[in-house]
Amino acid sequence: MASVELDRIGKTYVDGGVPTVHDVTLDIAEGEFCVFVGPSGCGKSTLLRMIAGLETISSGEMRIGGRRVNEKAPGERDVAMVFQSYALYPHLDVGENLGFGLRLARVPKADAQRRIDEVARLLQIDHLLRRKPRELSGGQRQRVAIGRALVRRPGVFLFDEPLSNLDAALRQQTRLEIARLHRSQGRASSIYVTHDQVEAMTLADRMVLLQPPPPGALLPQPSVAQCGAPLTLYRRPRNLFVAGFLGSPRMNFLPATLIERREDGLVAALADGTRLTLPVRADGVNDGDAVTLGVRAEHLRPATRRDGSDDPRLSEPMRTQVQWLEHLGDQSLAYLAGPGGALVSRLPEGHAAPAIGESFPVAALRDEVHVFDPRGEALPRLHEELDTCAAR
Ligand code: ADP
Ligand code: MG
Repeated sequence: MASVELDRIGKTYVDGGVPTVHDVTLDIAEGEFCVFVGPSGCGKSTLLRMIAGLETISSGEMRIGGRRVNEKAPGERDVAMVFQSYALYPHLDVGENLGFGLRLARVPKADAQRRIDEVARLLQIDHLLRRKPRELSGGQRQRVAIGRALVRRPGVFLFDEPLSNLDAALRQQTRLEIARLHRSQGRASSIYVTHDQVEAMTLADRMVLLQPPPPGALLPQPSVAQCGAPLTLYRRPRNLFVAGFLGSPRMNFLPATLIERREDGLVAALADGTRLTLPVRADGVNDGDAVTLGVRAEHLRPATRRDGSDDPRLSEPMRTQVQWLEHLGDQSLAYLAGPGGALVSRLPEGHAAPAIGESFPVAALRDEVHVFDPRGEALPRLHEELDTCAAR
C-alpha cells in the first residue's frame, strides 16, 4: 500500500564516470504494476536495487509512501524483493524460508504461522513446507521466493527477472500467477524488471523502457526512453530505439529522403526512388533531410489483393524480391530484399505464399508508417499529438 516516487534519480558507480542511471523521474501509484524493461546492461537492476535500498543513490530523491527513503535501510522501506536467483536459505525448509523475514521483524509466532499457511495455500506449496530447497524443482523454488515476499505484506513488491531461470511453459504459467497475485494484493504496488518484452507487455499497467548510456557521448542522456501503457509504446514509439526494441519481428526501417512537405502530410523517397505520401507532420525537418521510415511486418502487405483490387489504406507499392519464407502455423513471414535493405512482411491470412526469388510488390498501411527525423525522433502524425512521456 505505497506509492513510489523517483525524483531525478541517478547512479554513478565510478566517481566522475558516466552515470549508469540518469535523471529518472517517475511516480508509481498505489496498486500499480510498473515494469522496467530494456536491453541487458541498461541499468534496470541498478534502479530496482536503489528502490530496495541495496544500492546507494547518487543523486535525486526517492520517496516511498510519501517518505524520503534515500538513507533508509532495506528493512525500513516497506518493500520486499524477489530475485532471479531465488536466494533461498539452503539449510532452512520451505516453512522456515517463508517465515524468516517475519522472525526478523518479530511478528508473533501464531500470527506468522497463519500468514505462512495462507501464502503456502495461495501458491499451492502447502504440501512442501517441510522440504529443503534442494528437494524442490526450479518452479517450486521460485514460488517459495515469491511466497517469502508475500508473507511480509509489503507496500511495494520488487521483482528482478524472477522468471528467467524457468522453462518456457512454466514461465508463462508463473507470469499469469504473478499478475493474479498482484491483483489479489489490493493496493500494494509492484515494480518488475525484465529484458523480455512479452513479459513487459503482458504484465505492465505502465511500462518504462530504459536505454543504456550512449557509448562515448559527452552528455549523459536520460535513462528513460519512453514510458506509458504498453500498447502506447508499441503503437507510438517516440524514437528509433523504442521502435526497434518492441515487436517481433523487429520493425522494418527504410532509409528515405524527405521530398516535400504538404498540408496532407509529407512525401518521402526511398532508395530506389519510390515515393510514399504519408499522413505525418514534417515538424522541424526540411526538404532533402535523411529520414527513416518504420513499418511493422504486420503492416506491410502484398500491394494487390487476391481479387486484384487495390486497398485504399495502402501506400504506393514498393518493389521487392522474396528471399525466404517462414511458416509458423499461425502466420507466415516473407523475408524480402527491398529498396534500401531487408524487409519482413507478415502475409495476410489466406494469402498464397509467393515463391522464393519471385518479385513481390508490397505496400504499407499508410496510417501505420512511422517517420523518424535525422536524430531518430518520431515525427507527429497529422491530427494527433505525440504521447508525452507519462511520468505520472
Ligand atoms: P541490467 O539489470 O539492466 O542488465 P545493471 O543495472 O545490472 O543492468 O547494470 C548496468 C550497468 O552498470 C552495467 O554496465 C554494469 O556493468 C554496471 N554495474 C552494475 N553493478 C555495478 C557495480 N556494483 N559496480 C560497477 N558497475 C556496475
Ligand atoms: Mg539485471
